[in-house]
Amino acid sequence: MPTEPETDYDPSLGNKFIFVTGGVMSGLGKGITAASTGRLLANAGFDVTAVKIDPYLNVDAGTMNPFQHGEVYVLKDGGEVDLDLGNYERFLDVDMTFDHNVTTGKTYQHVIEKERAGDYLGKTVQIIPHVTDDIKRRIREAAEGHDVCLVEVGGTVGDIEGMPFLEALRQFAHEEDDEDFLLTHVTLVPYSKNGEQKTKPTQHSVKELRSIGLQPDILVGRCEDKLDPSTREKIALFCDVPTDAVFSNPDVEDIYHVPLMVEEEGLDEYVMERLDLADDALPEAERDNEWRDLATQETHGEVDVALVGKYDLEDAYISVNEALKHAGLEKNVDVNVRWVDSEEMDDDHEQRLREADGIVVPGGFGSRGTAGKIDAVRYARENGVPYLGLCLGFQLAVVEYARNVLGLEGAHSAEIDEDTPHPVIDLLPEQYDLEDLGGTMRLGAHETDIEPDTLAAEVYGATTCTERHRHRYEVNPEYFDAFEDAGLTFSGRSGNRMEILELDDHPYFVGTQFHPEFRSRPTRASPPFVGLLDAVLAETEADAREEVEA
Ligand code: GLN
Repeated sequence: MPTEPETDYDPSLGNKFIFVTGGVMSGLGKGITAASTGRLLANAGFDVTAVKIDPYLNVDAGTMNPFQHGEVYVLKDGGEVDLDLGNYERFLDVDMTFDHNVTTGKTYQHVIEKERAGDYLGKTVQIIPHVTDDIKRRIREAAEGHDVCLVEVGGTVGDIEGMPFLEALRQFAHEEDDEDFLLTHVTLVPYSKNGEQKTKPTQHSVKELRSIGLQPDILVGRCEDKLDPSTREKIALFCDVPTDAVFSNPDVEDIYHVPLMVEEEGLDEYVMERLDLADDALPEAERDNEWRDLATQETHGEVDVALVGKYDLEDAYISVNEALKHAGLEKNVDVNVRWVDSEEMDDDHEQRLREADGIVVPGGFGSRGTAGKIDAVRYARENGVPYLGLCLGFQLAVVEYARNVLGLEGAHSAEIDEDTPHPVIDLLPEQYDLEDLGGTMRLGAHETDIEPDTLAAEVYGATTCTERHRHRYEVNPEYFDAFEDAGLTFSGRSGNRMEILELDDHPYFVGTQFHPEFRSRPTRASPPFVGLLDAVLAETEADAREEVEA
């Protein structure tokens, strides 16, 4: 976990803050709404950053199960954070740091450490002001140097866990000038049985906010459709905001359309007006249109990629899904990601694997589902199906090669089979003595040297790359030569750590010890993913040609 510096902040630095809270229920997509607003401000020329507040007691997301919370996102500084930070990085096209994720655990741990160190000089240490001060400090530090900082408070207003954060927010509103602070509240506007948009849940949620001293400036209603004019008026009247501060956030087919929808609603213009930014914004004609072009570009054709994992939950592999989508945007094709259950590969899943144009085995921990993943690797290798293995998917490609090409029976990763006769994936000797497993995880951005004239060098168009890591185990150096003699090339290395593998006699068989998906952006697709699609497209074109000739 990165260490935290603590600086004195100046509350009058002049940053602008947009806080985003949620009401009625969670999962309304307030993060995407916030990120979309941020994208539009960035298009208008502002430097935008974001902070995600997670009111749970975990210090960071590193130990959390992807099945409950979705993927653990990794930042360049090695911070293991909530997947929402990934959405902010992708929408705003920025690199954030661990300081941009504030959790209850992190805040309390810090305050308690300070208390133990005697920093509070005999005072009673309390939630107000000590915890709330610490929360405000973190937000202001993360915002420093940026024009606008979006601050999303996770959870729903009224949750016990969120209370200290909302109190900090109340103080924030009090301390900042009016034109530097906006509170946006996102709520659900459901339909009644007879098709009427109902505002009561919104009213109750705003009442809850007001009872803790917070008055929203902007209300966003999540609804299947746009809010009717009468619904907006009703919300405005009961929640005490102008009608033109009530916005709709209807369902859209693709989250990349949310910025376009927010723009159509005029939310960005309203925010700029309220934050006194309108005069500094780029004129309409000079704004960045790249996002719009991408979100509305026409695709030619589609490909199916099998994602072989153990979690039947889109959020568990969200960055991999996104990276495939970005590569699709670059290649102008729709990528259908088909989940294949590595744990119980029934006929349906087996068929999906066989019908796929490309196969991805993503990262993972523990033994569950690894046998199915190894089968998928073998299938891809033996049948010339383009393959990309990420972290565990890289390690299992090594295991599969050891077993089926080198003939090392029972070869495995020491993580999964402690007693394997051939630990081809293992802890490096320097890691053996470290008792605290948590501390040995290799996290964050590290540079890899890429061997010239390899597929990896071609894919990256460079002889180095810097990608993010989150792993503990490595290719065992004792087997390097045996692999290379048998045709498995380690084309990327970082000292004695193997980072990229590839096979010569295969259209595309690539594994990376790192996670390239975390650096993929809609406007800058990740090279190994683009390489995969290039190979898939070349194969499908070749198939089509064969069909025509036959
Ligand atoms: N479990 C493996 C390791 O610790 C791979 C980690 C991953 O896929 N993120 O090295």
